[in-house]
Amino acid sequence: RHFRHGGLRISSGIHEMATTVLPRQAWRLYPTSSPAVFFIEPKVKLQQLFGPQELPQTFALRKMEARYMRPKDFNYQLPDDQVPEAAFFGRSNVGKSSLINAVVGSDLMVTSQTPGRTRTLNFAQLTAQGGKQTGSRSWRLVDLPGYGYARVARKESARWQEVTRQYFRDRSGQGLTRAFFLLDVRRPLDESDARQLRMLDKLHIQYQIVLTKWDKMSAHQDSQLLRQLGVLLGTKRSNMHHPAVVATSSTTGFGLEELRMFISAALTDPLGQGLGSDFS
Ligand code: GDP
Repeated sequence: RHFRHGGLRISSGIHEMATTVLPRQAWRLYPTSSPAVFFIEPKVKLQQLFGPQELPQTFALRKMEARYMRPKDFNYQLPDDQVPEAAFFGRSNVGKSSLINAVVGSDLMVTSQTPGRTRTLNFAQLTAQGGKQTGSRSWRLVDLPGYGYARVARKESARWQEVTRQYFRDRSGQGLTRAFFLLDVRRPLDESDARQLRMLDKLHIQYQIVLTKWDKMSAHQDSQLLRQLGVLLGTKRSNMHHPAVVATSSTTGFGLEELRMFISAALTDPLGQGLGSDFS
């Protein structure tokens, strides 16, 4: 299935899944012309979500040169080079490394069999070689430590959580354009997820929900998570969340092109000017 937006062709393989799974419930999540994107608010149009038309078009994440960087490459400091960042975080094992790899189209991040590998910040530096006049431009995807490890001492996991909190605190309003909060579609929200959402609100971080492992979701299956999100985000007073939720699968590629568009839009339109008043 294809549709066009701003000259960009978006394609998705598994069309039936989203449409059969979604409308049965009054979830306050509204399907869109893309099966991988749902809205929390009904009045938002897909066009409102993207910045100046030409930007997503010219921003081909997959074609960029991507380089993996560790904190030591930045002398253990957050870089202050004004490079726009998009952050990715979620529970351990949510599929974060797989998703970042799938989005940039290379095995940049080591996916883990053992939870707890990502204990610190890791960066994927993306560079696009421009023309003679524009020169090259850079963006960064930031890989934050996971939370909720079952087999890790409380003290240790509190320390990782502090790394995340500190990152958001330092980058709030400067450098960070959007946080992508990953949730495994099969897993209902619990208190530790809710705590992360409260942290984002409190630190004024604009965030967008990304569902992972969508291939594990069979048609007609009820999703407690989707219902929870519909209620939580649909009724919450905060407007730090992006109105669109993206369903993805690193395994099948479902929703990746849509996610790339949202990442591109965030990175190239840091002030969210392309968004309607619903995301201010
Ligand atoms: P991280 O700890 O969040 O970085 O998660 P990983 O990317 O290491 O993935 C955790 C586990 O989930 C691995 O066993 C992956 O193979 C699996 N996984 C990741 N993405 C998907 C997906 O889209 N579909 C399915 N079925 N499994 C996935």
